[in-house]
Amino acid sequence: MYAIQWPSGENAGALSLADVTRVLTVENAANEHALAAVLAPQVVAVAKDYSHVFAASTTFGKDLMPRVAALLGTAQISDIMAVESANRFRRPIYAGNAIVTVETDPAATIVGTVRSASFEAAASGGSAPIEKASVNVELPTHTRFVSVSAAKNDRPDLQTASRVISGGRALGSADGFKILYSLADKLGAAVGASRAAVDAGYAPNELQVGQTGKIIAPELYMAVGISGAIQHLTGIKDARTIVAINKDGEAPIFEVADIGLVGDLFQIVPEIEKMIG
Ligand SMILES: Cc1cc2nc3c(=O)[nH]c(=O)nc-3n(C[C@H](O)[C@H](O)[C@H](O)COP(=O)(O)OP(=O)(O)OC[C@H]3O[C@@H](n4cnc5c(N)ncnc54)[C@H](O)[C@@H]3O)c2cc1C
Repeated sequence: MYAIQWPSGENAGALSLADVTRVLTVENAANEHALAAVLAPQVVAVAKDYSHVFAASTTFGKDLMPRVAALLGTAQISDIMAVESANRFRRPIYAGNAIVTVETDPAATIVGTVRSASFEAAASGGSAPIEKASVNVELPTHTRFVSVSAAKNDRPDLQTASRVISGGRALGSADGFKILYSLADKLGAAVGASRAAVDAGYAPNELQVGQTGKIIAPELYMAVGISGAIQHLTGIKDARTIVAINKDGEAPIFEVADIGLVGDLFQIVPEIEKMIG
């Protein structure tokens, strides 16, 4: 198994994964900021000798891989959740309401994005060498980096956190969300949000969980004031334990919750925080 390393070193963790035997690094000043349009031809140059080219189904992977597939003249398999053979995979469709098994031409390079939440974490303990890959391709000039504005916080990353507390429309405002941040800090949890909460401006876009947000698989997921729409549940299908707080005992979220608390979140959340101390 091979991994490609970006100059930013963001995927330096690839070195220590048990089954990674080599890490290829592509040195090019144009890669200072990871732009899918610029990286795709370089990935293709490195990857054309390989049978499979995969990236995680993150926002970045979903941006990069369709370009890689297009340049290789093949179709992409999105959101792989199970591998049945070298060219046969299962993936969700209709917001996770159905699972489809797809097969690709084994003669073509197989390009896909993988739902990391559907797989066990790879074992660590490897020490793969880093090798420089020489890539000599013309890079596109139609896309260039202008600036980045990203919110920084010290909380765990939503996509990898073992505990996540998400809030919905019921929080009522960005100020209302503060009670979740406070509880999350005590629990060492990441904060997520429903789309309704994001659309209303209560929480930033990058916190959205669900079909059009992040797909996550934490040990503990607390859904606070979230109704449990199918598009939201798609994002937490693989969560180990789901705790729901909702004042409506008939809310669909209780159908998937392992623990349900029926009541006003503005009373329950501070009580939980007090209990934790
Ligand atoms: C194509 C498409 C993609 C979508 N993608 C996503 C996605 O990625 N993620 C996502 O989340 N949604 C997504 N949606 C939207 C989704 O259908 C729902 O509209 C959304 O999830 C609802 O958010 P909510 O549960 O916060 O709000 P609501 O459905 O309004 O639910 C609010 C809940 O809070 C409860 N409540 C109210 N006050 C209190 C209180 N004081 N204490 C306790 N409980 C209270 C209510 O009983 C209710 O159950 C998508 C929709 C479409 C069409």
